[in-house]
Amino acid sequence: MSKQIKVAIVGAGPAGIYAGNILSNQYPDVEIDLFDSLPAPYGLIRYGVAPDHPRIKGIVNSLHEMLNDGKIRFYGNVTFGTDLTLDDIKKHYHAVIFATGAIKDAQLNIPGIGLDGSYGAADFVAWYDGHPDYPRTWPLEAKQVAVLGNGNVALDVARVLAKHADDLLSTDIPANVYEGLKSSPVTDVHVFGRRGPANIKFTPIELRELGEVEDVDIVLYEKDFPDGWFDEDAEGVTNQHKVMARILDSWRERELTGASRRLHLHFYSTPVEILGDEKVSGIKFQRTGTDEFFEQEVQAVYRAIGYFGSALPQIPFDEKLGVITNQGGRVADGIYATGWIKRGPVGLIGHTKSDATETIENLVADIPNLMDPVAPGEAIKTLTERGVQFTDWHGWLKLNAHEQSLGEKVNRERIKVVDRDEQVRISRA
Ligand SMILES: Cc1cc2nc3c(=O)[nH]c(=O)nc-3n(C[C@H](O)[C@H](O)[C@H](O)COP(=O)(O)OP(=O)(O)OC[C@H]3O[C@@H](n4cnc5c(N)ncnc54)[C@H](O)[C@@H]3O)c2cc1C
Repeated sequence: MSKQIKVAIVGAGPAGIYAGNILSNQYPDVEIDLFDSLPAPYGLIRYGVAPDHPRIKGIVNSLHEMLNDGKIRFYGNVTFGTDLTLDDIKKHYHAVIFATGAIKDAQLNIPGIGLDGSYGAADFVAWYDGHPDYPRTWPLEAKQVAVLGNGNVALDVARVLAKHADDLLSTDIPANVYEGLKSSPVTDVHVFGRRGPANIKFTPIELRELGEVEDVDIVLYEKDFPDGWFDEDAEGVTNQHKVMARILDSWRERELTGASRRLHLHFYSTPVEILGDEKVSGIKFQRTGTDEFFEQEVQAVYRAIGYFGSALPQIPFDEKLGVITNQGGRVADGIYATGWIKRGPVGLIGHTKSDATETIENLVADIPNLMDPVAPGEAIKTLTERGVQFTDWHGWLKLNAHEQSLGEKVNRERIKVVDRDEQVRISRA
């Protein structure tokens, strides 16, 4: 008979859930407790993925099945480092897997970055996705906005800013987000990438959908597209690049329709300074690789230049890369990492699955040398004794049903509950 082990996973985003599922399939003699600081599971799927990306729902359904089959026990509203410490984990588990992802913006150190009206995309995303720990209001006062970055998050932010709020009503956006976006006077959203259009880091589906937003014209600038701008045979060119080049070329040929909002894509634009006295009034760029500078009038700047992981108490952290220091997911005896906190905040949800496979292979190989708990599996008792108001899987099913019933009343699939206490109250009722 193989050794019975108890494993804690910290972080109930896709990485943590996949890791739990792969582990329980590979090593059935395991009991898994999955903790998250938020009352609800799914991490950035709930609080990062844009509300108008419903196709992600398929992934949520499969993660739901993994948690619903009872092999992994979910406990929400439990923060590692305060409610549950590394000492607790060592006392109660043979191993722990950290899957804590990333929620903060990477820094951009240019003059003016601290001006009123200069924002991190991650904060805006957390607002429009109704993250409980972020303010309920967002200052949407700018007519002209700059979004810095050429990855999918930049596209999400630009699309949500440019889209008419009513076109988001079919989604799960909370009422305060709808009201905020509805009052936005925005007319022009300018997305700036440092490199050329052949080097974008978008993915084709996300790029294509920009061109399908109601009453928004896409504006491209011919100076960014010299003859032969896209070389199909260049090194590193993938089919995805080819598809995106075709999309951009088709937009270059489109006539503007006179839409009430415009989404401009600028390339070869390296931001050097955000302009303004107290408030943002513009942004200055260097044309990449040249001595030419230019300015764009805007009243708000969103930097979407990447996310950055946060250190956890007592866990080795690489300050430069923003990840838990690890090798193939191994951190120390019995301590593992997976997902964005393991390899950095890049890649789609699907990538966290292959990532978890590697971490779990290493964990299973290490089973003879894991930690040696004195009171295996009694962490929940400890949390109860401490008065931690944790939620569990049945609580999530209640909250899930409640959010769906809020939506049903107004013909929407779901309306998210934002407030943490309210989520906890509904879950624990
Ligand atoms: C704006 C945005 C849009 C995206 N859109 C898409 C998309 O459309 N399609 C796609 O495939 N991918 C998308 N992604 C990528 C996708 O979200 C990530 O690949 C994936 O969520 C990473 O998974 P993870 O589990 O590592 O981290 P996360 O999803 O961040 O999960 C980490 C979890 O750990 C918890 N946690 C953190 N610290 C603690 C602590 N101390 N104690 C307890 N719990 C803790 C967090 O609350 C969170 O629930 C998007 C990402 C962003 C940022």
